[in-house]
Amino acid sequence: MTAAAGGTIPRTTEARPTARLPSYDEGMNVQPRMVLLVEDEDAITVPLTEALAREGFRAETAGTLAEGLDIARSRRPDLVLLDVMLPDGSGFDLLRELRGEEHLPVIMLTARGDEADRVLGLELGADDYVVKPFSARELVARIRAVLRRTSAAATPAASGPQQIGDVELDPSARTVTLNGEPLELTRKEFDLLALLMGQAGKVVSRERLIDEVWDVNWFGSTKTLDVHVSGLRKKLGDDSSDPRYLHTVRGVGFRFAGAVEPESS
Ligand code: CA
Repeated sequence: MTAAAGGTIPRTTEARPTARLPSYDEGMNVQPRMVLLVEDEDAITVPLTEALAREGFRAETAGTLAEGLDIARSRRPDLVLLDVMLPDGSGFDLLRELRGEEHLPVIMLTARGDEADRVLGLELGADDYVVKPFSARELVARIRAVLRRTSAAATPAASGPQQIGDVELDPSARTVTLNGEPLELTRKEFDLLALLMGQAGKVVSRERLIDEVWDVNWFGSTKTLDVHVSGLRKKLGDDSSDPRYLHTVRGVGFRFAGAVEPESS
């Protein structure tokens, strides 16, 4: 889909409602990841907002720099898509502003052929850029790649080993022990366990697990995820009907036991 796919859209400066379509991330206590789109062209924002909702993201739109900065600070999005040419100034100014604060992934939306813009954006610390016109599919793939990179950098790799119950995972050494005995995990099993333990106590959606553990361009059956989860359970000595560690949240995803588990789980 290109920007032209939006058709005739009435111009309005009011906040546009976000399209709501079902996704794995909805329901339960799983928060869909929020993307802030700072862009003043409805022909781009409307179809893109819909595409993001279809892909399981929550999209917020800001038509000006001022509104963008306000939403970035008050709503704490997971990622910002930032246009360069905005009615009240340059997207680069907003990028500079955001870079002075804690790291928030930013993808710049740049005009075709404007290499200077792309270089400047990357120098100012943008995580990636896409060139207009872009397809929603391409952009979503970029968003996922940036989120995966930045969340991998933010996961407790630096904060050392993590222990829950008798399971101890060391992200930097990529080792797992159960009752002090080393567990032989495949690479995907390890990645899956590291992600789930990093979110211990919270539900992680199937979609996010597939996104972050498998490739963005991975179109295989989601059965693969179940096969890996059941492999992990076996190695952890977990019983799927009454798991101690790896809980299935039907229709949503999986949850690794928190450090303190409620009595009835
Ligand atoms: Ca613009």
